Amino acid sequence: MLQQLRVRPGDAANLAEREPGSTPGAPGGRAETEAATAAQLAKLSELQERLYAERRRSLLVVLQGTDTSGKDGTVRHVIRGLDPSGTRVVAFGVPTAEDLAHDFLWRVHRHVPKAGEVVVFNRSHYEDVTTVRVKELVPEDVWKARFEHINAFERLLVHGGTEIVKCFLHISEREQASRLRERADDPRKRWKLTSADLIDHGRFGDYLDAYDFAIERTSTDRSPWWIVPADHKWYRNWAVAEILVTTLSETNPHYPLVPPMPEAAALGD
Ligand code: ADP
Repeated sequence: MLQQLRVRPGDAANLAEREPGSTPGAPGGRAETEAATAAQLAKLSELQERLYAERRRSLLVVLQGTDTSGKDGTVRHVIRGLDPSGTRVVAFGVPTAEDLAHDFLWRVHRHVPKAGEVVVFNRSHYEDVTTVRVKELVPEDVWKARFEHINAFERLLVHGGTEIVKCFLHISEREQASRLRERADDPRKRWKLTSADLIDHGRFGDYLDAYDFAIERTSTDRSPWWIVPADHKWYRNWAVAEILVTTLSETNPHYPLVPPMPEAAALGD
């Protein structure tokens, strides 16, 4: 069931036809799904330890989505299951002058995982073909040429032993309006709201079009996109945990085979 979230190479993402409030493959309603997520996080933690011990391969998780789609929440609820010493979360905001003085992959490449590590990108190089396109920050021929560079860059990482998982957190326009309203109404959440978020909300359809276009061109066998229905936070957490467990189980990292150490006998029983 979860496989239906995965975009096959060359397939259209068809965001408009996917239901952000759906819960494909969920083990039940909210309570059952939350319990299943806790079990998945325990599995994830064990798989990560093997990845870390093996020190040969690595995992890059890319989280993308419109404003309020739950990227931070996913980090809080799913990534928290991982050991902080083997995990880094990197958020990409508006590029600095230094970033802009380089090619668009420069700021991203320096944060990719080293062997044994899990790195989570909260926003990523995909901003350079979505937000940049919607806000018309560079001419069309410039952002269009970036897909080729993105695919070559991700191939490079895969050849070096990095598994890549890209999750698009898919919320509905209605849900985005409700989450923005909550931020506007709650004094403890108001700090998260900017007037730019409200302008972007007015362009929700343009963002979806940009993601449709980008996902179709960059979902490959070894670096797939998963479109995660994200109106229900409990489902989103479960689906991302499940996707990570599935990916790492296929990677199947091994503890290194270390022969017994004769000197350890001196430690006694
Ligand atoms: P968030 O909104 O994810 O909580 P921030 O408040 O730091 O985090 O906002 C990040 C902002 O930076 C978003 O509006 C995003 O679209 C923008 N951004 C990220 N990368 C780029 C980029 N390459 N070019 C232009 N804007 C970008």
